[in-house]
Amino acid sequence: MKVLKFGGTSVGSAARMKAVAELVADGEQKIIVLSAMSGTTNQLLQMAEYIRVGNASGATDTMNILEKKYRAECEGLGIDYAVLKPFFSTLRRRCLQPFTPQVEKDIVSYGELISTTMMTTYMVQQGLDAALMPALDYMRLNNDGEPDMLLTERLLREQLAQTGEHLYIITQGFICRNTEGQIDNLRRGGSDYTASIVGAILEVDEIQIWTDIDGIHNNDPRYVEGTKPLRNLSFDEAAELAYFGAKILHPTCILPAKMHNVPVRLLNTMEPSAPGTYIDNHTSSGTIKAVAAKDGIYAVRVQSDRMLMAYGFLSRVFKVFEQYRTAIDLITTSEVAVSMSVDNDSHLKEILAELRTLGTVSVEGNMSIISVVGDLRPNNQGLESLVITALKDIPIRMISYGGSDHNISLLVSSDNKVKALQALSRCLF
Ligand code: ADP
Ligand code: ASP
Ligand code: MG
Repeated sequence: MKVLKFGGTSVGSAARMKAVAELVADGEQKIIVLSAMSGTTNQLLQMAEYIRVGNASGATDTMNILEKKYRAECEGLGIDYAVLKPFFSTLRRRCLQPFTPQVEKDIVSYGELISTTMMTTYMVQQGLDAALMPALDYMRLNNDGEPDMLLTERLLREQLAQTGEHLYIITQGFICRNTEGQIDNLRRGGSDYTASIVGAILEVDEIQIWTDIDGIHNNDPRYVEGTKPLRNLSFDEAAELAYFGAKILHPTCILPAKMHNVPVRLLNTMEPSAPGTYIDNHTSSGTIKAVAAKDGIYAVRVQSDRMLMAYGFLSRVFKVFEQYRTAIDLITTSEVAVSMSVDNDSHLKEILAELRTLGTVSVEGNMSIISVVGDLRPNNQGLESLVITALKDIPIRMISYGGSDHNISLLVSSDNKVKALQALSRCLF
């Protein structure tokens, strides 16, 4: 069995949905994970934002635009719009309710609820043996807001006992429930994560992520011209690229696949026969593979008030981040100071206040992490100097190397991000 995930563009219109139905209907049983149609999640978030600021008519207008679009898409698919009517009736009521963060989570779940209903209805109408397996009935978060793998496995197996006799099992990406049973999600781009969690739990033959490009490219095609697709990547390399900004994969979606050693293949819905990128536990040696960038980073430096950093200083610094459940991405130290990068600013004010009791603190926002990924073991001399030389005209705030064997990360001002990505492509590839 395989798990196939189709992203927003891949199901972005009635025509794209028909193409997906044709692509999956090869007579082999599979689980099909769908995103919302492209643009819908953003529009639902916009609707929630109107509700938050008390503009019910703005919310209703946005909903009406969406409903009109979906009526047309149903017509394009040749399915009865009545199957979507209950969703829009609920959304309409939501527009008039007061805002809570839960209302936003409920609203944003409709993108995937709607796309999977459309696809299932269409496929069944085509005479295909398709059935819906609701993600809200199996995908669960734990108290940390991360997937609860054990509970999800038990519930998923229960669900499969019911839908498993069908050939094409369609489920929603992204959406789940929290420990209270309320609707929640796996954060933006989370449909990839759903696919890898389901594929890992069931230890399928392969997890396929179908998107709008022919695999992972060696640099971000949104900012750099002439990028090339990579045929093979190791789990570790792909995980670093995803975590450090390659939008094609959700930041943590490689982890479950790696834990269960299930290969991941990235494929292009617009060009199904292109080879794409194959990700497994095999590392090819001696080369730099790719570059990615992650925005919205803060650089925090704490300088010890003593002449030398006393032992225990770092642990006190880290305790502050732990207390506010804020992860540190990069870290560099000197005799008297430590610099760290964080991407989560929800408790930054409190963190900075506490760090000021330990030393002199400086903070800089609007930074980007540039990550270079490949076989960067220390005995491959020269690769790191290539990276530094490529960036010789760009001010670098931090350099992190040696944390793993496959990554050099550098912190630069976001204003220099595109310049840095382009310079790296010129010098490395
Ligand atoms: P989906 O909606 O299918 O999940 P995404 O938009 O999330 O698709 O991811 C695909 C997009 O990721 C591509 O269109 C491309 O612009 C962007 N992208 C960023 N970095 C990379 C990269 N290194 N390789 C390929 N695509 C990338
Ligand atoms: N629809 C969600 C989003 O736009 C999840 C996904 O597409 O992966 O973020
Ligand atoms: Mg995506």
